[in-house]
Amino acid sequence: MPELPEVQNVCIGLTNTVVGQTIARVSVRRRDIVHGPSRPNNLLHSQTITRIDRLGKQIALVSQTPGNRKTPSRQACICIHLGMTGSLRFYPKDEPHKPDTHTHVIWHLNSGGRLTFRDPRRFGGLWTFDSVASLIETRWSRLGEDALTITPSGLHAKLQRTRRAIKSALLDQAVLAGLGNIYVDELLFGCGVHPLRPGCDVSRPEIQKLIRRMRALLTRAIRLGGSTLRDYKDASGRPGGFQHYHQVYGQSGQPCPSCGQPLACTTISGRTTVYCETCQS
Ligand SMILES: [Zn+2]
Repeated sequence: MPELPEVQNVCIGLTNTVVGQTIARVSVRRRDIVHGPSRPNNLLHSQTITRIDRLGKQIALVSQTPGNRKTPSRQACICIHLGMTGSLRFYPKDEPHKPDTHTHVIWHLNSGGRLTFRDPRRFGGLWTFDSVASLIETRWSRLGEDALTITPSGLHAKLQRTRRAIKSALLDQAVLAGLGNIYVDELLFGCGVHPLRPGCDVSRPEIQKLIRRMRALLTRAIRLGGSTLRDYKDASGRPGGFQHYHQVYGQSGQPCPSCGQPLACTTISGRTTVYCETCQS
């Protein structure tokens, strides 16, 4: 599943390609992936994409239509969750594109380019809103702070309240938005924190270290284009490169990069968890 670094790369790609472009026509090929009103104007028909927002693993395409003396200015936005296998891909005018049965929405742009939403397993989807304010109110207010901007005191306040394993808490998007299985395992290894430690037992200095490491880990992963395990590609169809730098994720039984002991494996919150019994306590 794409996590914060992969989603951020999609946002960077969209900012460089579709922001400033006007949507000439929208073709919805599978209606049940659109939640909320799905009239053409809800899907940004005839509107210009003015910016791309992100919170955690969710993306928002935002349009702003300037007003005049007769009509007030209007904003609309589409929130997109990529789920397990979703992708947003931009095709310039001269790049051929043949939609398949998993291509659910195509935005035809005035430039002749196209933006597509494709999702074979359909755990992702699109949510339409009249404004960014209504997206925040109905959907994003349920999420915790973004993993790139959360402060040590913000995370401390959330973790203090839970006896759940730190790994479960960090995976919970209501605690912290953006991390998934890959980056939580990498982060806890990097900090020497055992994934089963109760959240409330993680000390203030450890949380400060965790936040510092998390920012460094996510920033490096973003710079390397994110991690591609199976499906993930950015908005131009390029895979990421950070999978070559994973230290523990997916490497159960392999020697720990720090002490050489075989890495251990357990299941936490239904997710395979790899860690070092010697280096993480
Ligand atoms: Zn070790």
